[in-house]
Amino acid sequence: MSRLILRNTAIMTAPDFVPEPADILIVDGVIGATLPPAAAVDAESCDMRGCLAIPGLVNAHTHSHANLLKGLADRWSLEMSLVNGPWVSGRRDAETMYWSTMVGAVDMLSRGCTACYDLVYEFPRPSQEGIEAVCRAYADAGMRAVVCPMVADRTLYDAVPGLAAAVEAAGQGPVTAFGLADTGSILATLEGILARWPWDRERLKPALAPTIPMHCSDELITGSRDIARRYDAGIHMHIAEARFQAVAAHQRYGRSMIRFLDDLGVIGPAFTAAHGVWLDDTDFRILADRGSSMVHMPLSNLRLGVGVADVRTAREAGLTVGVATDGANSADNLDLFEVMKLATLVSRTFTHGPSAWVSARDALEMATVGSARCLGWGDGLGAIRAGAPADLAFIDQTGAAWHPRNSHAVQLVNGAGQGAVTDVMVGGDFVVRDRRFVSIDVDRVLAQAEAAADRVFAETIELRKKAEAIAPAVVAHIARVNARHVGPARLIERTNAMG
Ligand SMILES: [Zn+2]
Repeated sequence: MSRLILRNTAIMTAPDFVPEPADILIVDGVIGATLPPAAAVDAESCDMRGCLAIPGLVNAHTHSHANLLKGLADRWSLEMSLVNGPWVSGRRDAETMYWSTMVGAVDMLSRGCTACYDLVYEFPRPSQEGIEAVCRAYADAGMRAVVCPMVADRTLYDAVPGLAAAVEAAGQGPVTAFGLADTGSILATLEGILARWPWDRERLKPALAPTIPMHCSDELITGSRDIARRYDAGIHMHIAEARFQAVAAHQRYGRSMIRFLDDLGVIGPAFTAAHGVWLDDTDFRILADRGSSMVHMPLSNLRLGVGVADVRTAREAGLTVGVATDGANSADNLDLFEVMKLATLVSRTFTHGPSAWVSARDALEMATVGSARCLGWGDGLGAIRAGAPADLAFIDQTGAAWHPRNSHAVQLVNGAGQGAVTDVMVGGDFVVRDRRFVSIDVDRVLAQAEAAADRVFAETIELRKKAEAIAPAVVAHIARVNARHVGPARLIERTNAMG
């Protein structure tokens, strides 16, 4: 039995996020007790003097394949990101996927994030070797993760009514060349991956991600639902991220995508909705009533220009809300401190009044216990308390941003936390100590990630040219689709008040 006591720290955790001086006893990777400072305990001792201990942050939605794409998409909207998907996300092999995951794990761990929900894409369908490489990277990095193959059997051109015809009318068709794998072979692969899951589910859990409802046949969604149930796995989907998707759902299903998925029996405690920008109050109530969760990604949403999710209304409906960076293609880094700060700020674009704004404490709650519930760990992760895994981040409080200390929660979220992570522990093991990785060769990870990106982009030049040619017609068509939207507003409409 291993016993370690972390001395001279102050613990800041849910529900109050008010720091309390305490020592943390860790027994076999699990928090045994939080004790008054200097309590007599028989254990190896580690001095964390001056550090604030917070629960390891949890990134409830990212894409490991996108870690090679940071900086590529300066002014890409969501539809441009989807048009460019074939070249930016194509041509992955197991080695590429391993290093792409590793560079993301380094990014997250160095910023105090100890667990993530990773939606992994492989074209034309997931593979056992690809998912194994992603899991091996998280295991080697010492990070906790939910890993799910992200799948589709319909393209963007099938998903948005009229889009294929619009592209062809612009002289850029046909768009049939983007063919995806057939439904049966995707489901068989998913079943195989879950049936042979070799990893300890306390560290690496499987889940399924039929990516976006309209990009999936009904058979792919119900098949994924059944596999998820058979193997006790989560199911995670991009829901109502952009306005044109809300319109496309009504055109295809005659109702919102949440009502449609609820009628299919997909919405339940294991269901996580990513984004939810264009959901209405009834959608929030359905998700809350079924015990589902939602992931708020304000940085990605602003980056792609899709609008701002009404998180306050979702939380007031009783819905569990976590936060996330999204992939590096729409975030450029995987920093949950930036995301927490933005979550507090963008809530102020709604007119509910200051008492309804997301507070710093709310943001910390979403980035810890909220996100942990999205990952399916319930209340077993995301807090510093006896019985929870020792997943911890330590914050240096010596910088100017901490002086004077008027509110730890507000200062941590609004700027003092950024760059201040000194030590990170997962399951009782230090992964980062004094800002250095304990067992990861970071230089090698960075070099291999560079090489992997060079390989991918060298092989996808033709696809890139094709995407660049098609993009203007897609953007023009999506603008016409957006104009058909009726429902809650999540973007500022530019109107001329003077007539
Ligand atoms: Zn995503």
